[in-house]
Amino acid sequence: MLHIAIIGSGPAGYYTAEAAQKQWGDAVRVDIFDQLPVPFGLIRSGVAPDHQSIKGVSRRYDAVALSDNVRFVGHVSVGRDVSVAELQGLYDAVVLATGAPNDRPLGLPGADLGNVFGSAAFVGWYNGHPQFAGLAPDLSGGHAVVIGNGNVALDVARILAKTPQEFAGADIVAHALDALAGSAIRHVTILGRRGPHQIAMTPKELGELGNLARATPRVDPADLPAEAEDMMLEPGQRKSVAHLRSFAAIPEHVHADAAVEVEFDFFAAPRALIGEEGRARAIEVERTQIDAGRAIGTGDTYRIPADLVVACIGYQSSPIPGVPFEESAGRFANDEGRILPGLYCVGWARRGPSGTIGTNRPDGFSVVEKIAEDVGAGAAKQGREGFDALAKARGLDVVTFRDWQKINDAEIARARDGAPREKFVDVADMIGAAGRE
Ligand SMILES: Cc1cc2nc3c(=O)[nH]c(=O)nc-3n(C[C@H](O)[C@H](O)[C@H](O)COP(=O)(O)OP(=O)(O)OC[C@H]3O[C@@H](n4cnc5c(N)ncnc54)[C@H](O)[C@@H]3O)c2cc1C
Repeated sequence: MLHIAIIGSGPAGYYTAEAAQKQWGDAVRVDIFDQLPVPFGLIRSGVAPDHQSIKGVSRRYDAVALSDNVRFVGHVSVGRDVSVAELQGLYDAVVLATGAPNDRPLGLPGADLGNVFGSAAFVGWYNGHPQFAGLAPDLSGGHAVVIGNGNVALDVARILAKTPQEFAGADIVAHALDALAGSAIRHVTILGRRGPHQIAMTPKELGELGNLARATPRVDPADLPAEAEDMMLEPGQRKSVAHLRSFAAIPEHVHADAAVEVEFDFFAAPRALIGEEGRARAIEVERTQIDAGRAIGTGDTYRIPADLVVACIGYQSSPIPGVPFEESAGRFANDEGRILPGLYCVGWARRGPSGTIGTNRPDGFSVVEKIAEDVGAGAAKQGREGFDALAKARGLDVVTFRDWQKINDAEIARARDGAPREKFVDVADMIGAAGRE
């Protein structure tokens, strides 16, 4: 029997379990650990609450989770409750699928002012991640600035721009919905160091911004390259730029009538945050020009109001004691997923924070090949029985997949009208809903 421990129950973790099942069938036992009592990583706490069809992908993992040889071991934090070295002693292979949960630092003067957040924190707040549920951003100012030109920046801008009614059918948590309903933000600036041809925004997400109830997107036509140059772009990027062109063509009277404006400020590098009484009020920006694909400052600076700042500039993994870490890339040091024989990584913990949910799938299959090469059919380790003894001795309150199903049922039962669920945002409440004190 081969015993595998996967640390992290996001997409990368479940795809790896699926690949292991395909490879070894009944001859493998897989334990999927998560620090939270609830599974699915960023599908629950990252993917936007108004994108329910994408969140539905987690149903695909249920089949894997409910099979006899795969187990969810929730509410166990590896590195705190149990060490990687202990797991290596119990399992033939340990696979880190811990994602990249920390914000990449903004590294600007004033970044520590109040009401300046990274996207992990801000997205975690509206998605009810227990670590960030208490964030309490102040939405009483008129201007928000979102830094970054990727889909996460679009998610944040859209969430700030929507009316409460536009969250019908979304699983945005009640504390965020209430705060957004009282929001005074009427202007959202999306800052990008480079130009329209360099955005990392996908067409569907950009298109949504053109169809909001009270908000209108604004693009300065002068920022757009000549239309003929779009032919050099790959088709998806061309579609995204076509959306920006349609935003640039929105007549002034439409802007005048819109209650909220979402403005794209391209060729604009943030240089400093300026505060009053400890909280952000403005951002200093330097105009850039593109040289060989890179944004170079022109020396021309200006200020824009910024009562709330959300930096959507990428993520990094959390180091785990004893595991080699590549600081510069913010991920575990690995060779195609192998950290060393018996210890592996997949997903964002392996590649860094890029790609969609599906991008994590091939990682599972490739790491299973490496495990097969390194440990063959296993070395008679204790596997889950050994872990259960350790958990008992240590008094760990392990949450199983059946417990999660009870939490899930309770969240669905307490949903507001039209919403798929009302998430518990507190670990103790999750454990309580699982039927325990
Ligand atoms: C804001 C945002 C929106 C996104 N929207 C989309 C989208 O619309 N469509 C799309 O295709 N992709 C989207 N993505 C990308 C997608 O979410 C990622 O590709 C995917 O979640 C990465 O999977 P992962 O398993 O590597 O990490 P994660 O999903 O982050 O899972 C990691 C898991 O590990 C657990 N963990 C971490 N440390 C420990 C530890 N020490 N002990 C135990 N458990 C631990 C965490 O609790 C978590 O459950 C989005 C990403 C973000 C950030």
